[in-house]
Amino acid sequence: MKSGQIRIAFDLDDTLIIQNAGYVEKIVQYKLLTKIFKVEKLRLGTKEIFQFFEEENCELWIYTTSYRSIRYIKWLFLVHGIKLNGIVNQDIHKKNVSLTILKYPPAFNIDIMIEDPTAFV
Ligand SMILES: [Mg+2]
Repeated sequence: MKSGQIRIAFDLDDTLIIQNAGYVEKIVQYKLLTKIFKVEKLRLGTKEIFQFFEEENCELWIYTTSYRSIRYIKWLFLVHGIKLNGIVNQDIHKKNVSLTILKYPPAFNIDIMIEDPTAFV
């Protein structure tokens, strides 16, 4: 990480992946392959917000409590034309955080964590 660069992490479920969302991002790369290796839909606006933070020279990470594989999460964003700088899933979280909490962004030097409101209830 370059000095002064802000690392922002997004949650997946109910933040970027909304069940039965009416408006979702279009797949832009590897369209045929996604028919075989299916991916979930990303909430409409995801690309715009990632592009904005990228232009602001921020690092973009995913931090999820789910067990989706790193390979799958990379693939999910790649087909939408988004390159991630880092991914934390539940496996990586458990290996690095001994506290019994669902997420601990400081363990991964994450400056800003973007969550859905239900994460706090
Ligand atoms: Mg969530």
